[in-house]
Amino acid sequence: MVDLTSPTEIKRIMDGLGRGFNKSLGQNFLIDKNVLSEIVSASGIDKSFGVIEIGPGIGTLTQELLKKAGKVVSIELDRQIAGYLQKAFAFYDNFKIINADALKIDLKEIIKNEFGDMPCAVVANLPYYITTPLIMKFLEDGAQFESITVMIQKEVAKRLEAKCGTKDYGAITLAVNYYSNPEIITEVPPHCFMPAPKVTSAVIKLDVKNHTVPYVSNKEELFKIIKASFGQRRKTLVNGLSSLYPNLAKEQLKSIIYDVANNENIRGEQLSLEQFIQICENIVKIFAI
Ligand code: SAH
Repeated sequence: MVDLTSPTEIKRIMDGLGRGFNKSLGQNFLIDKNVLSEIVSASGIDKSFGVIEIGPGIGTLTQELLKKAGKVVSIELDRQIAGYLQKAFAFYDNFKIINADALKIDLKEIIKNEFGDMPCAVVANLPYYITTPLIMKFLEDGAQFESITVMIQKEVAKRLEAKCGTKDYGAITLAVNYYSNPEIITEVPPHCFMPAPKVTSAVIKLDVKNHTVPYVSNKEELFKIIKASFGQRRKTLVNGLSSLYPNLAKEQLKSIIYDVANNENIRGEQLSLEQFIQICENIVKIFAI
């Protein structure tokens, strides 16, 4: 089997395609064998699983996934690389490559057609420029993944895993924690990639299967509230919420906040998901929405 973590091999393949790496597509290929096996083992996949991979590149991670998973479907935007992979991996009968923008695909449809009743997971070394929208798509699109194990920028990984009250805690932390239990698996330095990116990376696993989504009567309203609360960092919660609900008197908002947090001047980053849900329920009651 070809060693796809070898820089010489990667260079040979790219030279064969007559091209270099496309920086704007976030093409930084993994060249570290240990990190590769760490990602696959953290994902917990086995032969019963269907795996969605975003951005396979020349197939370094794909090759490892194919050994462990029942079936792998990889989505690659770069037409030339997708074409290359289609040919190079043609001998695998449990592999499919789709040449598309991962943000635009219909995940539910792909899972239904390709995996049927198999349990599904996302395992990928993501293109970093679309990390957040991709993760939200995996969580929100109604596709039922058991887990999402991805390489992303370390700073973003820290925001997803942040504890309440810390500087990294924000709307994205709450959104991810609503749907899953996030856990950083390992940090990955730039020299593990070719070409080496400027930033440090991290592998994070979002465990969906062992997570209970908390009850909230109006999910859309909850996320509107969370977004408004983090709109301007230094703002108190009451100011954030009064721009969302201009018809509610500030005093009324203050009393809702005090009931939940014992402090009417609290800021959004000091509130847990459960407290946001309580505030949401109280507001929903007032508006009967
Ligand atoms: N998984 C490979 C490559 C990671 S680099 C490895 O670990 O070596 C990120 C990959 O995502 C590149 O191949 C890039 O072409 C692809 N990509 C970038 N934007 C994309 C998009 N919108 N949809 C799908 N793939 C994309």
